[in-house]
Amino acid sequence: MATNYTPGEQIDMLCRFCKRVYPAQLERSIAENGRTIDKDSTFEYCCSKCMKTFCYYGKDLIEAPKNGNEEESEEKTENRSYSPKDHFLIGETIYHPQFEETGKIVGKDTGATSRIIVQFEKSGIRRLVEDI
Ligand SMILES: [Zn+2]
Repeated sequence: MATNYTPGEQIDMLCRFCKRVYPAQLERSIAENGRTIDKDSTFEYCCSKCMKTFCYYGKDLIEAPKNGNEEESEEKTENRSYSPKDHFLIGETIYHPQFEETGKIVGKDTGATSRIIVQFEKSGIRRLVEDI
């Protein structure tokens, strides 16, 4: 099974059933049977609290850190500023210029307009549009 994309093993996500943010564990890729696993594959995550699963595309998920220099790369990473035109990844930390605080992306609402679900330290959970 060829793999060229590995999302994070454990990402904090908003559980649709618990209605709270819990660490979710990567279960497996649904796109199996010898197909290449890439960003278009669907990955299944399991809520650590209620054990229910939910699926996201690789293109919506933050990539697992590569081996080596992990600490160094973490320090170098600057949080992106939120802009409705950009595409964001679940697990990513962003800075919101209007709220003047950082938040972690814990989920997505896909529909006519894609929205990211962000947990801010002070403002709590907010839904923000993306990909406009
Ligand atoms: Zn749950």
